[in-house]
Amino acid sequence: MTHNIERLREFVATVSRLTQQAGTRGQDEAQLLGAATAPLQALVAHDDWLPAEMAQAHPDYYQQHLLYCDPLDRFSLVSFVWGPGHQTPVHDHTVWGLIGVLRGAEIDQRYRDEGGRMVPDGEPERLSAGQVAAVSPTLGDVHRVRNAYDDRVSISIHLYGGNIGRIRRHVFDVATGAVKPFVSGYANAFVPNLWAAPTA
Ligand code: FE
Repeated sequence: MTHNIERLREFVATVSRLTQQAGTRGQDEAQLLGAATAPLQALVAHDDWLPAEMAQAHPDYYQQHLLYCDPLDRFSLVSFVWGPGHQTPVHDHTVWGLIGVLRGAEIDQRYRDEGGRMVPDGEPERLSAGQVAAVSPTLGDVHRVRNAYDDRVSISIHLYGGNIGRIRRHVFDVATGAVKPFVSGYANAFVPNLWAAPTA
């Protein structure tokens, strides 16, 4: 598989432009989220650009590899690598986010607050390669995501309206109603070279 890093660089340039326009026009987050959906769909329509290091699964946990973070923390782009059966806790984001599935499939279960406890909100949604879903404090910000497969890796590309690995957010214990703060961080020490010459 070739690694057409140009796709990633172009996507980062597009989102940088959108973010800058949003800042100068006073657009709200929902408009920015809407404007970034088609570019993310285009990015995950081709599975030929993600560097192998950013596609590495961990045997026990899903991995969050930072692909790029805006120097002003206006957005970040993360490769989530789901090993067989891996899933998140029930969690929030506190900023808008777009989830695009690059490889395999995942199951997205939304939750809502009912008297101080998180309960499932609607049926779980299956997202397959090429599909994009949104989260945000206004659209619904609490969910649990899991790999749809028990026997293979799935990968999704997540765009967030902030430096998601550094944001203080929350995990919810569905059984007890307990809420815990957490900061996810990133698994990788180095980010991809978006400025490399294209591979022939
Ligand atoms: Fe999430």
